[in-house]
Amino acid sequence: MTNVNINFGRPAPRKRGGGRPPKCTFDCAFCGGTGKDPDSIISEEMCRVCKGKGKITKNISCKELIDCAFCEGKGVDPNSIVSLEVCPVCLGTGKVQR
Ligand SMILES: [Zn+2]
Ligand SMILES: [Zn+2]
Repeated sequence: MTNVNINFGRPAPRKRGGGRPPKCTFDCAFCGGTGKDPDSIISEEMCRVCKGKGKITKNISCKELIDCAFCEGKGVDPNSIVSLEVCPVCLGTGKVQR
C-alpha cells in the first residue's frame, strides 16, 4: 500500500455505471484470512467459505457491504457450540449487503 497522491492537473471524474462492474475483495471472516478451516477436525483443512483462498470477492461495491450483525462479522454461527458452523446469514464471509 502506497500513500502517494498523484495530481494529474484535473479532477478525476467520478464515473457511475458503465465500465467495470464493482468488486469488493476482503479477508474471509470465517478463517480470518488464513484459508484454513478453523474447525478442520470435522471438515477439509481448506476453509469451506473461501475455498482456501483466504479472501472473499463479491461483485458488489465495498461501500454496499456492512458487517454481519448476526455473527458480528465473525462469519461463525453464534448458535454453534460444539463445532464452528458457517453463519447462515453472511455464509461465513462476515459481510452482508446493506
Ligand atoms: Zn476462509
Ligand atoms: Zn454472519
